[in-house]
Amino acid sequence: MAVIGSPIAHSGSPMLYNYGFEKLGLDYVYVAFDIKEHEVKAAIQSIRTFQMRGCNVTMPDKTEVVKYMDELSPAARIIGAVNTIVNDNGRLMGHITDGQGAVSSLRDNGVSIKGKKLVIAGAGGAATAIQVQCALDGAREIVIFNRTPARAEKTAQTIRQEMPSCTVKVCNIADTARMTAEIRDSEILINATSVGMRPNDTESIVRDLAAFHEKLTVLDAVYEPVQTRLLREAKEAGCLCIGGKAMLLWQAVEAFRLYTGMDFPVDELKEKFYG
Ligand code: NAP
Repeated sequence: MAVIGSPIAHSGSPMLYNYGFEKLGLDYVYVAFDIKEHEVKAAIQSIRTFQMRGCNVTMPDKTEVVKYMDELSPAARIIGAVNTIVNDNGRLMGHITDGQGAVSSLRDNGVSIKGKKLVIAGAGGAATAIQVQCALDGAREIVIFNRTPARAEKTAQTIRQEMPSCTVKVCNIADTARMTAEIRDSEILINATSVGMRPNDTESIVRDLAAFHEKLTVLDAVYEPVQTRLLREAKEAGCLCIGGKAMLLWQAVEAFRLYTGMDFPVDELKEKFYG
């Protein structure tokens, strides 16, 4: 197995998957290949040629690989991106586990999406995947806040069409009063913008701390730094807080299950991975 993308040298995926294979005694090995967008077609053909079991896909290849899949999961079809390819005897199925990573990290902390109202900030790759997965998993309402609201409208429209039982609203992230009111009325807040990410780690999407309340769970997709300003302030206000590394880990858990049909040794890895 492999991960493809560019740049790729920094990827933690080989360490993660090889650890799992070794622990479970599976005869697989996982490597990283630097593949630029124009090389994707040849790379996908290699999956069949080398009879690889599968392949993870990261930036900038996630949308380009879609054209070469034989089949797509519901989330991958709706989002138009793939981060996990499973090869079943030459037939390639594309999945996207980014959104599942967010939902599973919430579940791991005892928080279910079903029937909940969420505020999700962002309209990029991470945000779109999380918003679609939350709608697929039965969220009651999603309020999207973005710096460029028009960019969020596409996902909102798709969710309205494909999952009409989920109400979706789009707002401007600069409207602090609206954001405060919507968060106060929600059970889950997810930051899927790059606000708060190093080197801008003094920033937070929440400008009015009155937005936080004790029944709120806050998930930050940003994982550098591990403790963002958003998470620190939310924790001080009594919220349950989950960091971006948990989302990364649970994406891999979902992909591992798709490749091997087995559960990743998550508990052992949590310490190793978070530590
Ligand atoms: P992206 O596609 O570039 O989207 C960036 C988002 O951040 C957009 O919604 C953008 O708004 C918003 N944004 C950027 N600067 C902003 C600012 N100064 N003020 C307000 N909004 C701002 O990026 P992405 O791939 O979705 O990644 C977003 C974050 O999630 C990154 O920190 C990334 O590291 C993290 N991430 C984490 C995981 C994980 O597993 N934990 C997975 C993927 C990504 P506009 O639309 O207006 O430009």
